[in-house]
Amino acid sequence: MYRTQVEPGWSLDAWRGRARAALAIGVAPEDLQWDGDAQQGLALGAPLPDAPEAGAQLLVPARFMDLASAVLCHRDTGRHGLLYRLLWRIVKGERRLLDRATDPDVVAASTLAAAVRRDSHKMKAFVRFRQIEEGEEAYVAWFEPDHWILDRVAPFFAKRFAGMRWAILTPYRSVRWDGAVLTFGPGGVRADAPADDAREDLWRTYYANIFNPARLNPTMMRQEMPQKYWKGLPEAALLPSLMREAGSRVRDMAEREAQAPRRKIPARHTAPSPVDTGGLVAARAQAADCRRCPLWEPATQTVWGEGPEDARLMFIGEQPGDAEDLTGRPFVGPAGALLDRAFADAGIDRAAAYLTNAVKHFRFEQRGKVRLHKRPDSGHVRACHTWLQRELATVRPDTVVCLGATAASAVFGTGFKHTQERGRWHTLGNGVRAMATVHPAWVLRQPAAARESAYRVLVADLAAVSSGVNEPTRVNVRSQ
Ligand code: SF4
Repeated sequence: MYRTQVEPGWSLDAWRGRARAALAIGVAPEDLQWDGDAQQGLALGAPLPDAPEAGAQLLVPARFMDLASAVLCHRDTGRHGLLYRLLWRIVKGERRLLDRATDPDVVAASTLAAAVRRDSHKMKAFVRFRQIEEGEEAYVAWFEPDHWILDRVAPFFAKRFAGMRWAILTPYRSVRWDGAVLTFGPGGVRADAPADDAREDLWRTYYANIFNPARLNPTMMRQEMPQKYWKGLPEAALLPSLMREAGSRVRDMAEREAQAPRRKIPARHTAPSPVDTGGLVAARAQAADCRRCPLWEPATQTVWGEGPEDARLMFIGEQPGDAEDLTGRPFVGPAGALLDRAFADAGIDRAAAYLTNAVKHFRFEQRGKVRLHKRPDSGHVRACHTWLQRELATVRPDTVVCLGATAASAVFGTGFKHTQERGRWHTLGNGVRAMATVHPAWVLRQPAAARESAYRVLVADLAAVSSGVNEPTRVNVRSQ
């Protein structure tokens, strides 16, 4: 009888080394006692010797290693022995053992692995970074996993938030990312991580806006977002009241819908003339009946631009959202609220600017009662370009700001590289100065930890627009 130990208990390398040592001297599973197993306290066996340096390579199915890497992260104390039993059976001839879905060892291991994968998924979904002041930007999150999953999941966060400095604290272990390397350390306590940060109000406002009471299913919600995670989620503070008020909000919605149909069907196609030289009022009236592409049909109405006809500054977004489609006005939904805030931070007067979209009808996908934004494709942008040209030709702004890649492609052409060119000045063929920045909806879509940086990108670009500090760089772009 031998005994051995895996340190740390979740490490595949550590377990593999011990398993290889046992196999090298032919120790059967029933003769090997793993520290952490139920019988550990008896400590009957002799210490397992190390494996010979040049021991034979173990050839096992990749599927087994994948299963083992998950099982090792489970808190079950018998997992090392269970895996060794599976390994023993595989190397002794049961090469297709994992295909036997009803085998008790396979069932036990699969159950443990499923629990670990579920826990890992929850961690990816429910970790919320909070900003801390430390000279430069850094973020800390607190999370209480059910299993030993931090090492398993940390690479996911390193990839996802590669450009940030962050740390995740758990009760048993912590990890830090400095932009290049993951460093693991001891665990902490909840008080080591900040409880809140400045931008969470913004996130809560957005969450309250997108919360659809008609789709509320508390049972499903608690299954998907167990209450133990709520304490780490900024939006969780809203949930009790949103859930409490859901019934009355649904009744209100139903009554509103009964009184006022949401959709105004345009009159039969009258082939509007896109080259009409009338002013904005005439163009708007013509666009109201536009059927140049299929987007008009499921949408409520054409959402035309808004602002002074002689505005010096024009902002162009992608397309109307749900709130814009219903109200007929651009930038009045959550993204519009964020843009207003960014305008205020950058010193831009919204009332003096002209705001419009590259595509004038809301493209969406119906999911139950909710209409989910769907990006317009290049055909829609091309079809709608005629209306954007009318607005540009009538308003004749000095400066154009494209919010997002779709607007940039409408103004600069489809070859425009938004990621590389964002924040840089260009001069259009008619001498108008133009810049592309991010869309406020993109800022709102960022994970909580990245939203603050994304917002700062938007404000910095708008501040450059506001101050005009950047000199135009003449580049070859298509003329309007
Ligand atoms: S999206 Fe533009 S081109 Fe398409 S129907 Fe609407 S207004 Fe016309």
